[in-house]
Amino acid sequence: MENYDKLAELLLPDVDKSPADYEAMYPPRALPEGARVTRIAPSPTGYLHLGVLFTAMCNKRVAAATGGVFYLRIEDTDKKREVQGGVADIVKGLNRFGVTIDEGFVAADREEGAYGPYQQSKRGPIYRCFAKELVRQGLAYPCFCTEAELSAVREKQESQKVRTGYHGEWAKCRDISYEEAQRRIQAGETFVVRLKSPGSEENRVAFTDGIKGKIVLPENDEDFVILKSDGIPTYHFAHAVDDHLMRTTHVIRGDEWISSTPKHLQLFKLLGWKPPKYAHVAPIMKEDGGRRKLSKRKDPEAAVRYYAEAGFPPESLIEYLMTVASSDYEDWRRANKTAPVDAFKFSLKKMSLSGALFDLDKLRDVSKNVISQMDAQTVTGRILEWARENDPDFYRLLAADPAYTQAVFAIDRGGPKPRKDLAKWDEAKEYAAYFFDALYVPCRDLPENIAPTAAAAVIEAYLPVYDPADGKDGWFQKIKDICPALGFASEVKIYKKNPADYKGHPGDASTVVRIAVTGRRNTPDLCSIMGLLGKERCIQRMQAAAAVWRGK
Ligand code: GLU
Repeated sequence: MENYDKLAELLLPDVDKSPADYEAMYPPRALPEGARVTRIAPSPTGYLHLGVLFTAMCNKRVAAATGGVFYLRIEDTDKKREVQGGVADIVKGLNRFGVTIDEGFVAADREEGAYGPYQQSKRGPIYRCFAKELVRQGLAYPCFCTEAELSAVREKQESQKVRTGYHGEWAKCRDISYEEAQRRIQAGETFVVRLKSPGSEENRVAFTDGIKGKIVLPENDEDFVILKSDGIPTYHFAHAVDDHLMRTTHVIRGDEWISSTPKHLQLFKLLGWKPPKYAHVAPIMKEDGGRRKLSKRKDPEAAVRYYAEAGFPPESLIEYLMTVASSDYEDWRRANKTAPVDAFKFSLKKMSLSGALFDLDKLRDVSKNVISQMDAQTVTGRILEWARENDPDFYRLLAADPAYTQAVFAIDRGGPKPRKDLAKWDEAKEYAAYFFDALYVPCRDLPENIAPTAAAAVIEAYLPVYDPADGKDGWFQKIKDICPALGFASEVKIYKKNPADYKGHPGDASTVVRIAVTGRRNTPDLCSIMGLLGKERCIQRMQAAAAVWRGK
């Protein structure tokens, strides 16, 4: 025992606090019974990945549903892979998509909370203290093996067909004496600190995963590294120390970590701590001639930025991800159309076990629905905001006359059956093009059943009676009134009964006017559109179309 104390002192002489000091600095949280403490712990090695947003959202929901805390910890122990601006991208992305952070990095440059620092690179002394404690208890030791020695061992294991790794009899430095360690350190050799695993591959560990249920795996017998030669912890060790001291109750993370869980459970046991509850989230999959994980490299939609740039409202993406996360969410949403997402009782047990398929069409449908519920002011504000960042020319056009712009997006909004034209803001330009002369491109293609001369006749009959003061009903009455003289039926329904002797009906006549004025067959309410465009512009467009249809 005494030797272990000496060894601990030799390896980590700079540690100036005891485990008890840290336990006192980070006491158990005073939270109501049942409140869960969850976290997202990304590494700033690139842009915010959809999978991280998804996992963060699940963590957030679990904390929010129980009156708990959801915090953000930055796992930046791998400085080589870190990208500049990575932290900012993650924090901004989470906030933008409504997965707001209660504690930790609440903004890229602001940490809040009593359990910090929330950045692993600033927690060196804490890890070193607990590593020292393990050495002191004979549960960890220095390993001086070089890369070359380790690969020689691996090759030998491979040739003997035994499991590779630093375990059992292969763990060369396991029983290193104090004297040898001292000699090698004095000779300037570097070392890592490894856990002296008491486990055996023959044994099994079982744990209840919050999503996948009971999982049984071989016990860990690997003397894995806990501190690297530069004194920086590995993920395994940092996770145990941080999640204990930050008083995390539920670790909800990607399921690539399942196979490491025996290591983590062993660490918690050896450190004398109660482990958190684990829940492993299946990755989001993509259909690509078979199912595969969304890939950072191959799929632009793997980056959360993709959705911001396309102008999917954050609410839409979250709404969609909730349908992916929880099999009962859609039923709940049908019954609670306008309730905030926080009101949903999220349960990990309802999550997919195998990985849900990401379906862009479904996201579009969800988003159309979300946008159709927004009022004109919100929609206009969001489009302006999106255009300012992503399409400055369009932005200038919209911002030149904000009242007109808002009126454009107000058409057919509200009411029990709002239209669902827009799925994302980058569709707004095409949607609204005919309202702006700078964007309007005339298109006079007619449906097959309307001859160009008939279309011209419709316009020529309508122009003399056109009056912008006609309301919605008056406008359509005039369309009906011109029908008999054109040889058209006067009611829409006749067409359905006798398609054979059909020439046209008021619906066709209004389609002709619609095409003449907007260049489209399908638009929101035409009377409102014409009202906004103004008399002169409407007359001009109708005359121009009639001339083309007459072949002039
Ligand atoms: N830094 C780890 C990752 O990005 C965190 C895993 C965890 O949530 O514990 O995968």
